[in-house]
Amino acid sequence: MEQATVAVIGAGFAGLTAARALHAHGIDVRVLEAADRVGGRAQTERSAAGTPVDLGGHWIGHHHARMISLAEGFGMTLFPTPEIGEAVVLEGGRRIRIGPLTMAAAAAALLRLELLARTGAGPRWDDVTVADWVAGILGGRARRLVEAVLPEATACDLDRISVGALAVGIRSAGGLRTLLGTAGGAQESLLSGGAGGLAEKLAAELGSAVHLGRPATAVTRSADGVTIATPAGSVRAARAIVAVPAPVAAGIRHHPPLPRERAYVQDNLRMGTIYKAIAVYDRPFWRERGLSGAIVALDGPVPAAFDVSPPGGPGHLCVLIPGRAAEALDRLTAAERRDTVLAAVAGQLGYATMNPLSWHEKSWHLDPHVGGGYTAIPRPGALDALADAALPTGPIHWAGSETASRWSGYLEGAVVSGERAADEVLAALGSTCLGVHSKS
Ligand SMILES: Cc1cc2nc3c(=O)[nH]c(=O)nc-3n(C[C@H](O)[C@H](O)[C@H](O)COP(=O)(O)OP(=O)(O)OC[C@H]3O[C@@H](n4cnc5c(N)ncnc54)[C@H](O)[C@@H]3O)c2cc1C
Repeated sequence: MEQATVAVIGAGFAGLTAARALHAHGIDVRVLEAADRVGGRAQTERSAAGTPVDLGGHWIGHHHARMISLAEGFGMTLFPTPEIGEAVVLEGGRRIRIGPLTMAAAAAALLRLELLARTGAGPRWDDVTVADWVAGILGGRARRLVEAVLPEATACDLDRISVGALAVGIRSAGGLRTLLGTAGGAQESLLSGGAGGLAEKLAAELGSAVHLGRPATAVTRSADGVTIATPAGSVRAARAIVAVPAPVAAGIRHHPPLPRERAYVQDNLRMGTIYKAIAVYDRPFWRERGLSGAIVALDGPVPAAFDVSPPGGPGHLCVLIPGRAAEALDRLTAAERRDTVLAAVAGQLGYATMNPLSWHEKSWHLDPHVGGGYTAIPRPGALDALADAALPTGPIHWAGSETASRWSGYLEGAVVSGERAADEVLAALGSTCLGVHSKS
């Protein structure tokens, strides 16, 4: 049987940064990754123009100090999210102007959410779905605007998330303005080389400690540690860090069975549903029409589009389609899906939209290893599942973006959680994790 001091299950940003922190302390660590690649919800591929294209997480926020420091440490640079030109709002495929009354009604609704997030929404808000709450917004267009923006921000249909859970997410991201914002907010920058590229650099540093295509199928806890079963043989370790999203981790068997509190976490969180596509063009031609490429649609198959082009480079147009709209796309052929998505924005951006140099897409909810994105969300009425997600179970420590108290659901949250889990393990092993606490 293979031996390691610590086994880390999952090579997303949480698992990789946990392993990195332990490795830096001279601890013998083994990373077991189910997929044939590292990165988890961060995955980068190359466009026909040779540029990196992120299929998963890609924006780095103004306050995402750990991600910025990691990227810079590996010689990667950040570039600002392009905001050149005018953003448009569509309804019925046509461009509309959002009048002051509509804007005021939508802003007032969002302010109410912000206040709930700041004051800590009480338990009663966990029984109210965001869909029910949004139904109370005065003014049809203001309501539809909020109905377009919130699923885009959460990757969740609004009848599947409670106001309480949304408020926790907003608080964890430092407020709505930060959550929705570009400059100064969570969408401030993009990473040259891509987020998946950064994960590969982290893994390369760990070398042969990372084992791909090696899913953990069962974990046995005993007085002196854990034994992790994989199809390629078992690994014995003093401690394990499970850095797998809780709904996916539910597929790992445990002996003895997990205590009720932990089973509750895994049974009551579910992954968001998200489809992402990036169309790459020889240039961001929409700017020639004075448009920024940013679109919010109050109806239709594509609720939002964004310009994520690298500076001076080809045009990268990104769409994020959450919830049932994403599931509807799954029922189309690849060609139908591409035409449906591009036609929804071509009316505004120009006919050239229909002919990208290359097309990149992923339905994250169909990825068996991560189960969806952006993050795991508690079922309405089960908000306490999130609160308990980071509590260790004997020699098992739980990491993953959703276990982070700050920036939960983001790449930054994954790193926060990885460092926290490494810290717990070091404390348990009788060491201290210098440097981890020193960061903000
Ligand atoms: C489309 C999309 C867009 C996003 N956009 C952004 C963004 O712009 N900015 C941002 O900050 N965040 C974004 N996110 C969220 C961000 O990507 C995630 O929060 C972050 O990557 C989660 O990292 P993690 O390590 O916690 O989990 P994951 O990345 O999910 O890693 C879990 C790993 O565990 C592995 N695994 C699963 N089961 C097993 C098993 N049994 N044995 C071994 N390994 C296993 C998986 O294969 C995976 O590699 C986005 C996510 C998606 C899907």
